Amino acid sequence: MANIRIHDKQFKPFISADEIRKKVTDLAGALNKDYEGKNPVFIAILNGSFIFAADLFKALTIDAEISFIKLLSYKGMKSSGQIITYIGLDTELFSRHVVIIEDIVDTGKTLNEFLPQLEHQQPASLKIVSLLHKRDAAMFPIKVDYVGFEIPDKFVVGYGLDYNGLGRNTASIYQLLE
Ligand code: 5GP
Repeated sequence: MANIRIHDKQFKPFISADEIRKKVTDLAGALNKDYEGKNPVFIAILNGSFIFAADLFKALTIDAEISFIKLLSYKGMKSSGQIITYIGLDTELFSRHVVIIEDIVDTGKTLNEFLPQLEHQQPASLKIVSLLHKRDAAMFPIKVDYVGFEIPDKFVVGYGLDYNGLGRNTASIYQLLE
């Protein structure tokens, strides 16, 4: 496969469509087993996870619901600076089994700030599935329960992930060429 150019940068093939397909099947298999009879609610975090969420959800054979949220961050009055909130959640989470669908967990900052807001609703359980995880970049204590690929701390695009808005529409994942 060839390199691709997005805006001013070159990217090289990193994870093929075939490898992604196999991994999605494996992850769905684990979720089918762990959530059988629990009617879980999946919450996909937009925008990046939309393709992964669709493929993963199609591969589930158990009863399951899905909802989509968008995270908004703005400068708040807290000393830490950013406050993260969300829009779009249309499902009551109280006493439900909840699984967050992420495209990538990098430092863990986003989920670290956002998860307490979901925990507030007292779900029966709250777990995370992420297609990609940059373990070396982890700075916050986020446990990703279901990980597709552990990847190095380099910028990636494709399969839903963008670089300044472009690059989401590929079947495989590309890594920044340095
Ligand atoms: P965290 O808060 O875990 O550091 O970052 C999570 C978010 O940063 C992801 O949901 C994603 O939007 C963005 N991100 C982190 N690493 C990458 C990357 O390599 N490529 C792209 N396209 N986005 C990334």
